[in-house]
Amino acid sequence: MNRDTPTTPDTGECRVPGEIPVPILINWLTAAAIPLLVFFAWRSGLQGDWITSPLLLTVAVLLAFNSVLYWTLENITLLRRGFLILITVLFTYLAVQGPENGAAILWLFAYPPIVFYIHDARTGVIACAGGFIGLVLLFSPVGDALFAPAHDPSFRLLMLAALGFEMFTCFVLDQSRRRARQELISLASKFEYAAKHDTLTGLANRREAVAQLEQEFARYRRNARTFAILLMDIDLFKSVNDTHGHHIGDQVIVLVAQTLRDQCRKIDTMARWGGEEYLVVLPETETGEALQMAERIRKQIATSSVDVDGQPVAATISVGVASIHPSESIDGLLQRADEALYKAKSLGRNRVCAHEAEAPA
Ligand code: GH3
Ligand code: MG
Ligand code: MG
Repeated sequence: MNRDTPTTPDTGECRVPGEIPVPILINWLTAAAIPLLVFFAWRSGLQGDWITSPLLLTVAVLLAFNSVLYWTLENITLLRRGFLILITVLFTYLAVQGPENGAAILWLFAYPPIVFYIHDARTGVIACAGGFIGLVLLFSPVGDALFAPAHDPSFRLLMLAALGFEMFTCFVLDQSRRRARQELISLASKFEYAAKHDTLTGLANRREAVAQLEQEFARYRRNARTFAILLMDIDLFKSVNDTHGHHIGDQVIVLVAQTLRDQCRKIDTMARWGGEEYLVVLPETETGEALQMAERIRKQIATSSVDVDGQPVAATISVGVASIHPSESIDGLLQRADEALYKAKSLGRNRVCAHEAEAPA
């Protein structure tokens, strides 16, 4: 998962586009359950069942409270657990006490899909297995002795077989959903990586470099935090290609990229700007510091080489340095760095130049 993938606030889980977020589902289920609970509480009251009626009303109030608590604290874990506990208590009561002449036990079929969706697979399996074992006990002589549930043997058999079948189906579907979800997340992050990086060097590509430049520029506008850029170009690179071939040229491009990685800080953005050109964005950096860094990089590259049949193939770079000026645009900054690079080339290459308006170190 990369830093741009949307995540759920308190769990850090990835959100997949199109998927119903768990808090929304729980709030919708709560909204649907409350009128049902009130209706059946009223019916139980009419039938003179003075245990079921207040219990259903209490569950309705607690479900509403659980959702209100979520809107206040935004804690998804609390919302999930609260909802699971309340529906488990409710469904257990409906199975054991058997209101509506025992038919209320049919609500148990709503339990597996909800539990698998709102919780992780392990919790889903534990909750469903616990519920199933509880139902087996309820329908056993022990259950008869304790609660005397109003169901004949064929209903019991059918209920256990159908509920077990439903639980298993929910588990299989849930596993498939989770696998598809994981693959989607991994594919999305691969595509995102590919959209932002250069394949040969693994550095940021030009689009990503522009995005980082824009971000740095916005920070500069907001907080006046200065930043600098280094525009680099491999010297006489065409002759490397012509002499040793494109493949060795590629290796030199990778060598320069590796040197940038070694020499730059974590906060810097290193990008392949074009064929044999690189751009480095240096946040919170003045011209003097940027010049020092560029010089370090230049020296390191000048002393490195790639090995071609035991023979070293070396390369040098020229660097243009510029730091942001007040009331300047990104294009203006790039333009000045380009002019500095041009100067470095015309002064003989393998050197670092800052734009004329910059104060050299
Ligand atoms: P200068 O010092 O003035 O920059 O001279 P140069 O030869 O480096 O500049 P020029 O623009 O003439 O040549 C750049 C060469 O870089 C031409 C192009 O074929 C080569 N190039 C661009 N991208 C790649 C790449 O991905 N791999 C390889 N091997 N070569 C590339
Ligand atoms: Mg070039
Ligand atoms: Mg070049």
